[in-house]
Amino acid sequence: MPYLRKCANCGEPAMEPVEHKMELYNSICTYKCSNCGHEIELTPVASYGAMTTLGFFGALFVWFIFMDDHGDWPGPNNMPTIFQGLILLAIISFFPVQALLEKRKHTRYPIIESKDQPPPLAIEKTGHVGQRLILFIEKTGFIGSMLAPIIIATLILGTAAIIGFINFTYFDNNLFG
Ligand SMILES: [Zn+2]
Repeated sequence: MPYLRKCANCGEPAMEPVEHKMELYNSICTYKCSNCGHEIELTPVASYGAMTTLGFFGALFVWFIFMDDHGDWPGPNNMPTIFQGLILLAIISFFPVQALLEKRKHTRYPIIESKDQPPPLAIEKTGHVGQRLILFIEKTGFIGSMLAPIIIATLILGTAAIIGFINFTYFDNNLFG
């Protein structure tokens, strides 16, 4: 996302990307205003899509922890109690709220539609193993990013199932000794 942006501090269309680097779960781009020196860091909003999905899985996991010994949901009508509901709501809404805050930041520094864009900024090499995957997911937009963890999990489970099938069918379950 290396684009020229408008500076919220001095109002000049002079914020240029100066650094693009990997964090653990997303990439982050530093912009600096060549007019007033104001600096900000922006994360692609799409990054929070994948985290939103993981938040849902997290909430599901916590719900399982809330279940009683008989596998029933704890509250009246097999629903969580209000306190548990609030915890689940907090887990589910955590990343969407982050996404909205980040989106607001992007809106405060709008992209300048201009032919004089700064040259593409290469990402800093950090040896992050998931770098390519994360950068790819960040380009898919928020919804695509939400689907990414499901697709990846399906691929992993699918591969495991195929290996299991081959092992069972052709190797009489002796493939791994
Ligand atoms: Zn400025």
